[in-house]
Amino acid sequence: MTQLDPRRHIPRTDQLLALPEVLEARNRLGEPMIRTVVLEAQEQARRGELAPDDVATAVVTALAARAPVSLRPVLNATGVVVHTNLGRAPLSPVAVDALVSASGYVDVELDLGTGTRSKRGVAARQALLAACPAAEDALVVNNGAAALVLATTALAAGREVVVSRGELIEIGAGFRLPDLIASTGARLREVGTTNRTHLTDYADALGPDTGCVLKVHPSNFRVTGFTSGVALPELRKMLSDNGIPLVVDLGSGLLEPDPLLPDEPDAATALSQGADVITGSGDKLLGGPQAGIVLGRAEIVARLARHPLARAVRADKLTLAALEATVCGGPAPVIQALHADPDVLRARAERIADAVGAAVVPHDGRVGGGGAPGVPLPGWAVRLPEAVAARLRAGDPAVLPRVHDGACLLDLRCIPEADDERLLAAVRTALDG
Ligand SMILES: *Cc1c(COP(=O)(O)O)cnc(C)c1O
Repeated sequence: MTQLDPRRHIPRTDQLLALPEVLEARNRLGEPMIRTVVLEAQEQARRGELAPDDVATAVVTALAARAPVSLRPVLNATGVVVHTNLGRAPLSPVAVDALVSASGYVDVELDLGTGTRSKRGVAARQALLAACPAAEDALVVNNGAAALVLATTALAAGREVVVSRGELIEIGAGFRLPDLIASTGARLREVGTTNRTHLTDYADALGPDTGCVLKVHPSNFRVTGFTSGVALPELRKMLSDNGIPLVVDLGSGLLEPDPLLPDEPDAATALSQGADVITGSGDKLLGGPQAGIVLGRAEIVARLARHPLARAVRADKLTLAALEATVCGGPAPVIQALHADPDVLRARAERIADAVGAAVVPHDGRVGGGGAPGVPLPGWAVRLPEAVAARLRAGDPAVLPRVHDGACLLDLRCIPEADDERLLAAVRTALDG
């Protein structure tokens, strides 16, 4: 470095850290992130990419743009309602409010009337029971997989879980039902074959070692052709009242039948047909936060709640708050998206297409999240050149379109109408780029 080297004038770290704006940023950002921003600006100046006099301004600008969270909100233009890669169900405004107000101190395990400790999550439990009167009791855990693990552990650890070979499914990355059950210390007792299982297969497998019988909704695929399974009422009749619990893993978390999804099992029906307990997810068709729902006979739910594992999979206050609000509030965004009126979707798509000189084409949305495979949700999409897709994903707001058949398709089903303007602006920017 010569005497005249401008790099001598790069502000020192302590000078930059003492800037009023940097001190102010400490309310939002942690020390390591602030130091990283400072260091990056100094490095840029050392490489000659930034004048030493501009370093302080660059630091202030960069800090203003930084956020302590890096997850980015995405406009879901795929038409896939329960999109696992996008965090499954978007929460309703009332659920968001509930979550925010539960984020401070909250009476999750306290009776404010008496000032004494109360049972955790009473309100969420009551909300679920009111929404599903066929259940005597309810328990909320961390997710659907946890609900199933808890059920098989509490009812069958060291013993057998009787399950049809046609239902030994893999749901998604890291969720293989047989592995999950094996991990609980219960033994799988597989009955029937991949395509056919009969009542006698179940009957023959029952014995003193049976911990429970499990029926799983094979949510994400369909076996067609020469198939047969055993319906819940038959299974219930065969088990009669021999004391062997009948567990049904529904997956979707649907509490009552939805006429749009006639093949999707729901809690009310499964319980009325004789399931002792059902398990499901909070963030699939229930439309709430990630959670595992257990509903069923009081005695069985109590066995699960008493098991030590229940503590390891318990739901946090934010989940309980958002779940209660989802169950008690109006239709969740997932339900609104599922039942969106195709004519309205078309009009909205046409408005955006007209504004940018694009075409509107028929497009089927999907339930997603492993639910209702093969059930199309008829709607419409704005058709753009395929190359626009990457720019939309990288834009602000980020937009996730569907790339199909050499085109970039925007299905508005899962986008609230209030966001149409933001979507249009994002499309314009992406087309210009
Ligand atoms: C999704 C699903 C699960 C897992 O639920 P998570 O909430 O993702 O843990 C279990 N069983 C079935 C049938 C499912 O569809």
